[in-house]
Amino acid sequence: MRNMDKLLSVGEACKRLGIHPNTLRRWDKEGKIRVVRLQGCKRKIPESEVGRILGTQTVPEKPSEANDLLQSFVNFVFTRCQDDQVLVKKAVMLRDGQKCTRCGGTNDLAVYPPDLKGSPSDLKTLCKSCAEEEYHKEKEEEKTEKEHKKEVIAQKEVSRMFLLEKISPSNLLQRTAFGDMLSAAISLRKFSVEQLSAASRCPPQLAALFCDRMSEKGYLRQNADGLYELLVRVIV
Ligand SMILES: [Zn+2]
Repeated sequence: MRNMDKLLSVGEACKRLGIHPNTLRRWDKEGKIRVVRLQGCKRKIPESEVGRILGTQTVPEKPSEANDLLQSFVNFVFTRCQDDQVLVKKAVMLRDGQKCTRCGGTNDLAVYPPDLKGSPSDLKTLCKSCAEEEYHKEKEEEKTEKEHKKEVIAQKEVSRMFLLEKISPSNLLQRTAFGDMLSAAISLRKFSVEQLSAASRCPPQLAALFCDRMSEKGYLRQNADGLYELLVRVIV
């Protein structure tokens, strides 16, 4: 009945198996999964293969007592023999059954993170491709955290006088209008030129000029939705 087998795309097969396409590629190379190559090199995975793997992959869980024991062993090695990284790594691999904790693969294994930082229960055995994915994920998380920090830094305090001086309106009348728009911007926090103009009762052209000057100096940012957002805390 093989011919009746439905062929799944790589993406669909990966979704069902809960694995990354790189893992599937490796399984293919290692002969762990039967992949069909169609014309134009498009790879398809027979549905029966996914079923077979899902059926065989459910490894019976180790009794938790044995797990606890193995973890205690890792903790012991970790605290007593911290300088012997090779030994610590061996202990972690032993605990993980010499298998990748993500995909169950047995090739190219290493203990992650490589510098063994963190608590011993955070250490895990990963194959090369899973480690790369994991590392990539952490990099991304680090990046968003950094961006978040940058934003917090950007939320610095600026005095109203200093800010108005910086965006330097050319005449006294304009300066009064800029002051009004600044007050409106502070209460709105996020706004369009039109909203700012309406809230401050200043003409739209002037509101647009205000937004330009403020953005130039880094006090204001235009978001993807087109709205301006105040980046500083204005104090009296
Ligand atoms: Zn893996």
